[in-house]
Amino acid sequence: MKRKKQIILLAHCILNVNSKVYGLAGYKSSLKDLVGFLMDQDTAMIQLPCPELEILGLKRWGHVKDQLDYPFFRESCRSLLDPMIRQIRMYRENNYVLRGVIGIDGSPCCGVHRTCRSSAWSGDFLDKEETWEKIRQMHWAKEPGIFMEMFQSMLREASLSLPFFSVDETDSAGSLPALIKQLAASFSKNQSDSEIS
Ligand code: SF4
Repeated sequence: MKRKKQIILLAHCILNVNSKVYGLAGYKSSLKDLVGFLMDQDTAMIQLPCPELEILGLKRWGHVKDQLDYPFFRESCRSLLDPMIRQIRMYRENNYVLRGVIGIDGSPCCGVHRTCRSSAWSGDFLDKEETWEKIRQMHWAKEPGIFMEMFQSMLREASLSLPFFSVDETDSAGSLPALIKQLAASFSKNQSDSEIS
């Protein structure tokens, strides 16, 4: 049997850029260097669902976290993540190594270390000046987006833990070398931990 029993979970758009808000895509299909690195490491990839695509569709505007922080959106994230929690538990019980989760910093949903926020983002676009004023009030917050926040809390509820990593939405290609270095260090630490145990 050739399977290496190593798995990582990826934010949906790492493998499918087409799910992103129109205009945000910094690559044509998938983040090739990251995917290539993971394949070289014999690490299989599970693609998480894209909550924005599922709930808001392909023609959505860009949102901030505050706009998505309402009961139905959170409950929908939970429903999308339930199967992931079940799978993680099943793989763990069968001695697979789960390398972690890679999110998208800057995203209102999939940010890990950083998300976008504004309490002013709502309403219509009829007054151009007023709209620009609202747009200017967007700021970065050092906290996870809604989806990753739910994921982390569901993992805690299930007494499961996983390391979280991230690609930077504003410079996906530029953020890859640092991410790959971080993943390589984490993988080799996990490797030596499993050799010890
Ligand atoms: S960051 Fe998350 S919500 Fe946004 S496109 Fe990627 S997978 Fe979808």
